[in-house]
Amino acid sequence: MHPRDRLDRPIRDLRISVTDRCNFRCSYCMPAEVYGRDYAFLPRSEVLSFEEIVRLARLFAELGVEKLRITGGEPTVRHGLPALVRALASVEGTRDLAMTTNGSTLVRLARPLAEAGLRRVSVSLDALDDATFGRMSGVHVPVARILEGIAAARAAGLVPLKINTVVRRGMNEDAIIPLARWARDEGYIVRFVEFMDVGTTNGWRTEDVVPADEILARVDAVLPLEPIPPDYPGEVADRYRYRDGSGELGVIASVTRPFCGACTRARLSADGRLYLCLFASAGLDLKTPLRAGASDADLRDLVAAAWTARDDRYSERRSEATAAEGRVEMFAIGG
Ligand code: SAM
Ligand code: SF4
Ligand code: SF4
Repeated sequence: MHPRDRLDRPIRDLRISVTDRCNFRCSYCMPAEVYGRDYAFLPRSEVLSFEEIVRLARLFAELGVEKLRITGGEPTVRHGLPALVRALASVEGTRDLAMTTNGSTLVRLARPLAEAGLRRVSVSLDALDDATFGRMSGVHVPVARILEGIAAARAAGLVPLKINTVVRRGMNEDAIIPLARWARDEGYIVRFVEFMDVGTTNGWRTEDVVPADEILARVDAVLPLEPIPPDYPGEVADRYRYRDGSGELGVIASVTRPFCGACTRARLSADGRLYLCLFASAGLDLKTPLRAGASDADLRDLVAAAWTARDDRYSERRSEATAAEGRVEMFAIGG
């Protein structure tokens, strides 16, 4: 049975967070002032094992999930990740296995992950100069290390390679054009992401969002653009190509152009909770029944029932009233 939710959306994508930990402290996700040395991340015993993740992924595939994406926190800080990739790559019914990463470990891990069956990576990169990158990422990692990681991913065949850039007013608008040029020259697809009000700790304000229209106008002024159709139904990025045929870019405009109507994504947190929306305040605990011996059919029924009751459309409802609602943190479910 392939369930449909109350807005008639099927479940097609599963984003699997494999850890809530991260070696970065991006200002818009895990600000260093909040996530300091003493912050209590999940104890190991609360984090799903690889076997548990794979079992759940298989059940989600039976419910219609075709695409798996590994995320975090920073997924590559989870020890032994290629073994998980190998197991997920053989989940029947899925046709895509991707990962979102900050790129800091790809020099070492791109090849083993590709050999294990990973198909593609999206690398988050918010600036090309060390000063801006440091302000955005909250760490002193040189941009060169990320660029080397990106090159290693391409060499390992993890393509098409996408670059995700969160744009935050007053922080990295000046990085837009250099990133667009660099990605175009290198043959990568950069996607500029509007700063979102995910979680409760990043101090989000409407004024800090640089709307997609402004981002596009800035690029268009120096590298003329034209819109192109989505690659597949429900694609979250709006696509544009350079008029001279030299490549494409995207914008992910969750704030100014919400796309809830086509949202087919479920999210599994590192501690085994199912979130039906990036902005959900609570998740359905799958770990407890899983560890208490629930059968595959029981677990599948739980997920199907939750999906059938789903009516989430936060981005379309976003208002002063929704601002007060509790929200899961981004690093817990991986974007
Ligand atoms: N650590 C990995 C990374 O950064 O790619 C994977 C997890 S991270 C939570 C997934 C994506 O969410 C990243 O591309 C990040 O830039 C994005 N993200 C985090 N907080 C965001 C926010 N407040 N608004 C928009 N995007 C955000
Ligand atoms: Fe870490 Fe990714 Fe969040 Fe940055 S966006 S703090 S790299 S989880
Ligand atoms: Fe999907 Fe929720 Fe984002 Fe809307 S706000 S697109 S329902 S995750």
